[in-house]
Amino acid sequence: MMGPAHSLSGAAAWLGAGAAAAWFDRPMPWPVLVVGALICAGAALAPDLDQPSATISRAFGPLGRGLCTVIGKLSEAVYNATRGKGERPRTGGHRTLTHTWPWAVLIGAGFSAAAVYGGRWAVLAILFVHVVLAVEGLLWRAARVSSDVLVWLLGAAGAWILTNILIKPGNGAEWLVGDPELRYVWLGLPIVLGALVHSIGDALTISGCPILWPIPIKGKRWYPLGTPRFMRFRAGAWVEVSVLMPLFMIAGGAGGVYALDLF
Ligand SMILES: [Zn+2]
Repeated sequence: MMGPAHSLSGAAAWLGAGAAAAWFDRPMPWPVLVVGALICAGAALAPDLDQPSATISRAFGPLGRGLCTVIGKLSEAVYNATRGKGERPRTGGHRTLTHTWPWAVLIGAGFSAAAVYGGRWAVLAILFVHVVLAVEGLLWRAARVSSDVLVWLLGAAGAWILTNILIKPGNGAEWLVGDPELRYVWLGLPIVLGALVHSIGDALTISGCPILWPIPIKGKRWYPLGTPRFMRFRAGAWVEVSVLMPLFMIAGGAGGVYALDLF
């Protein structure tokens, strides 16, 4: 899928998680719902950091391009080192390592640890990166025609305001665990969810997605999982824009309403 569909699916997934949390008697305070939805919308772009032309690779100037080159090389190396006998060697790592569940869990755990041990400044940094991505993803062309600096300013202001809201007592810094020692540990959850939702989104398209690596399927470790062939579509196809995106909006809206107990 393309950036906007990925980001929308991420936001909708977190709002759905909010509804599930309310159902299981762990309701999210509204800042957790809002911050999580933004982070998840941003994190749902992150797996494409393995491809130079993706939104995410252009969002942070030379720093983003450098990171993209490193992740691309790493993905290619991991693919070639772990491929099965029937799987061809390849150059370029697009849709490999960063499109798997171990990657999602790993980066989520990393960001959780950073938030717990790094405190307020780490939270600010995590929010900045993800709000910038969410703006790039959700506003798409509108963000492209404006300058990068404007998007970064918007990200910085958003991160600053949201962190100050989150830090106030009762606003959810300790949501889910209730332990002041583990403040902000939940920030890794929307990051895991975003990465997974991205891969599932890609699995609906023509090429499929090796989400379950390294679990072998039909003798292949990088088996491109997906829906039945006839249901798959090209990234950016009308199904994505005219069916899936409105669906994500409706599902996300319904999830949010339930999560905040608004009806
Ligand atoms: Zn992708």
